Amino acid sequence: MVDEYDVVVLGTGAAGLTAAVRAAADGAQVGLFERADQVGGTSAWSGGVAWLPNNRHEVEAGFVDSIEDVLTYLMSLSHGLIDRPMIEAFARTAPEVVDWLEQHTPVRFELVAGLSDYHPEHPGGRREGRSVECPLFPFEKLGAWAPRVTVGWQLTGEFCMSETALGRKAPNGLPREELERRKIHDERGAGQALVGRLLSACLDRGVEPQTNCRGVRLLDDGGSVLGVVIEGSDGPFEVRARGGVVLASGGFEHDPKLVRTFLRGPLDRAVSVPTNTGDALRMAMRIGADLADMREAWWVATIDVEVPGRGLVPWQVNSERTRPHSIMVNDDGVRFTNEAANYNALGNAFHVVDVARFAYINDPAWMLLDHHFLSSYGLAGHRPPAPTPPWLTEAASIPELAERICVPTDTLVATVARWNEHAAAGVDPDFHRGESHHDRAWGDHPAFGLTPRSTVGPIDTPPYYAIRVMCGTLGTKGGPRTDEHSRVLDVDGAVIDGLYAAGNAMGSVMGMTYGGHGGTLGPALVFGYLAGQHAAGRAAEVTRA
Ligand SMILES: Cc1cc2nc3c(=O)[nH]c(=O)nc-3n(C[C@H](O)[C@H](O)[C@H](O)COP(=O)(O)OP(=O)(O)OC[C@H]3O[C@@H](n4cnc5c(N)ncnc54)[C@H](O)[C@@H]3O)c2cc1C
Repeated sequence: MVDEYDVVVLGTGAAGLTAAVRAAADGAQVGLFERADQVGGTSAWSGGVAWLPNNRHEVEAGFVDSIEDVLTYLMSLSHGLIDRPMIEAFARTAPEVVDWLEQHTPVRFELVAGLSDYHPEHPGGRREGRSVECPLFPFEKLGAWAPRVTVGWQLTGEFCMSETALGRKAPNGLPREELERRKIHDERGAGQALVGRLLSACLDRGVEPQTNCRGVRLLDDGGSVLGVVIEGSDGPFEVRARGGVVLASGGFEHDPKLVRTFLRGPLDRAVSVPTNTGDALRMAMRIGADLADMREAWWVATIDVEVPGRGLVPWQVNSERTRPHSIMVNDDGVRFTNEAANYNALGNAFHVVDVARFAYINDPAWMLLDHHFLSSYGLAGHRPPAPTPPWLTEAASIPELAERICVPTDTLVATVARWNEHAAAGVDPDFHRGESHHDRAWGDHPAFGLTPRSTVGPIDTPPYYAIRVMCGTLGTKGGPRTDEHSRVLDVDGAVIDGLYAAGNAMGSVMGMTYGGHGGTLGPALVFGYLAGQHAAGRAAEVTRA
């Protein structure tokens, strides 16, 4: 069997759905294929926040921004890894993507008040305005597709990110009646809202995802890509693409061999969908694509927790790590970083090697917290007086805790004492926690305001707790190198006609950085949009010729 389309898209995350709807809007006949039996990918599990600087909501809210400032900001974080023409394309297109999606699809965006860039003190950085999310979306509008959107375990779409402690709409949570009301029309927020809206846009234009269809091999004539071989439930089949194939099938974080080959340091956990195993990378390498940003990932610290119905799963520790009354230590019992730093930057602290011992001394680490923390904030769904779950170690004193987690007692006692002494003054001279606006905004700002105390607080209320913290990822960043139209380049820098990449499947334009809240979905939407637009144009040209 051979199917023929103008544009073929592999993957139904934010990048793939955006590419599909953009191409379809230009009149392309689109084939959208998804390896899993449900659609949405990690995008559907996400917070759904997109970093799209200079967007119209930012401007309308009175924030001053410019493409130049975005470029200054990103280049200040480059360390030689960011390619300026690519981030120019990102910065130029980001506002256009917001406008286009709002004008041509059910996607709507709102500014998430209070969300800052991840390095707001860097030149060109901002404390607010660049991050947007979709309002609630009634999944009943998706009909039979509603249950076919995958749902994760950490963010299930019950609320929008503006309704968490990070945002300003409901910093202390939503009333139960409102949560119940949302069930009437199955209204979902966060990544569910983003994917629901994008999926609805695709369905409106007659693009229906084909699930259990895994792209495995590109069909080419030695110069151009002509299509792809798909493994379906009834066996392999060929799909031809007049305009091009868009690789939007996520990263390679779930393939241990690719992880070992390319990533710059240990990766212990991936919180993305398990089907992201680097298929795009393998397909692109096979036909001679150049690669970019291979050593990098969107790093995030994780703990292993038991979630009802899911078993033991990795859980990102983001706001948990940044709130007061907690610190992280390594197996020597010493602090090693600013625990409230942004999660992606924190990945660097896990990759430190003690050259004398030739050991990664901070991976895995321990997060320590006290009763004050646990009763105020809870941890991954657990909160006293519920009995302490087996995944959390409890002790009546710091020496007992040290013994239980096999960390040198004297050192741990001294570490906590030093932290408490500084916490009494609300400072962290050792690692500067709480000095950046970022740290304060991720801390308990509803209680302490945007002050260092929102993240710096003593560990002095027994019982005490410890949990292993591991170096994890939201997804890898490396993949085929592309140009400003998302066209894949070969090892000699020439365009491979008919091949595009977007999202975590493409060599990221962000180098080792994470611009701000929504730093992965922003580029995924932008380069998905550019890929869909260009591939549709190419299909029209090929058809005319
Ligand atoms: C809990 C959580 C919260 C997050 N919050 C945010 C946030 O608020 N903002 C942000 O920017 N980022 C966030 N992230 C990260 C973000 O979700 C991902 O980086 C992003 O979704 C990647 O989008 P994508 O379209 O590239 O890939 P995905 O959304 O992962 O989609 C890839 C799809 O391709 C499919 N696929 C794989 N192989 C094939 C193949 N061979 N053929 C066909 N299909 C294939 C996969 O099954 C998957 O459905 C979060 C992640 C998690 C887990």
